[in-house]
Amino acid sequence: MFMNAVRTQVRPSQRVQYSSQEWAKRALQLMSEQGVSPTPRHYQLWYTYASGEAPLLNRMIDNCIAHTKRVGDELSERLYLKFFGAKGENALVQETGQLMHAELDKVIARLNSAESDTTRFGNVLMEYGDDIADLADGDGIKALVSGLARETKEMEIKTRSLESELKKSSEEIKKLKANLDTARAESMIDDLTGIGNRKQFDCVLKMATEDSAMSHQPLSLVFGDVDHFKKFNDTWGHKLGDHVLKLVAQQMKILIGDRGTPTRYGGEEFAIIMPDTTLSDALAFAEELRISVSKKQMKTKATGVALGRITMSFGVTQYMAGESMDAFVERADCALYAAKSAGRNKVIPADALQITAAE
Ligand code: GH3
Ligand code: MG
Ligand code: MG
Repeated sequence: MFMNAVRTQVRPSQRVQYSSQEWAKRALQLMSEQGVSPTPRHYQLWYTYASGEAPLLNRMIDNCIAHTKRVGDELSERLYLKFFGAKGENALVQETGQLMHAELDKVIARLNSAESDTTRFGNVLMEYGDDIADLADGDGIKALVSGLARETKEMEIKTRSLESELKKSSEEIKKLKANLDTARAESMIDDLTGIGNRKQFDCVLKMATEDSAMSHQPLSLVFGDVDHFKKFNDTWGHKLGDHVLKLVAQQMKILIGDRGTPTRYGGEEFAIIMPDTTLSDALAFAEELRISVSKKQMKTKATGVALGRITMSFGVTQYMAGESMDAFVERADCALYAAKSAGRNKVIPADALQITAAE
């Protein structure tokens, strides 16, 4: 197995020695060695690997080559989605939202300062008006003073209306900001299951890894995937398949409580982020979840026909200080893949695979 890995690995330092034609040839050769079908998506993945242009992708593939007999189509597809799939798009949407927030904050600050300036201006005018009215004695002065007083009054009215307009605008923008917050929160919820989606996973994991690095508290990650789900869909239909996903998410939510964040990572794959949790506690949780899902006896609501049981496989790992989020996720994913290879309906810790941090 390792012979294979050594033969096929591409190091970034090799980049200069190959032309793009050679990378293309090498990509096809690697795909054939690894039992990967030559589809355009796979070709993109393996061409990038052969070119050594994305060192993180190379580390992930090297890791997978080292721990599996052959990478194959399924893992190649997962790696493709990880690197070229929806993730990049989500990150972009998130970044745009953050920029909008920053911009709105700036506008609100400007409006607030204009509001207080206007109020100050109004007060100054009022003071002048009062002083001059006190000093008036001759007719001319009286006329001047009443004129000034009128002007002052008008200024005051104008100022007040400007103030109220500014206040209204400021409130509008605050409302807009609240709408954006709600929209962002909703965009992080998976429509089908009601738990967090991939975007929430990325957001929460980023915060959790930063927190763990600062606090030195453990952080664990559980990846779970429904076993033979395609067969379930093929047998019972997509709609009942959807019900299974809802049921799994519900069970996950009940069992995790406030110990972590359950998310739908994609399709029939789920990820649970567990802050302040050691690997052994996360393993215990995954085992509890595995058993509870496997015990569910499913029936159709209308006819009561038994649909059999569903099982799930799990990969579990603990965050290593200093490692990248991708390395952390990759380890959990590889452990999940090992649980599948080991026969499914199993929980496998990443350390059993002796996978080290990729950084
Ligand atoms: P494995 O045990 O190796 O995970 O096998 P599997 O059949 O579960 O895995 P595979 O990747 O071959 O198939 C996953 C299936 O999950 C295929 C896809 O149709 C189904 N799926 C993904 N998302 C949904 C969904 O939202 N609803 C339903 N009903 N099915 C889904
Ligand atoms: Mg599956
Ligand atoms: Mg899957």
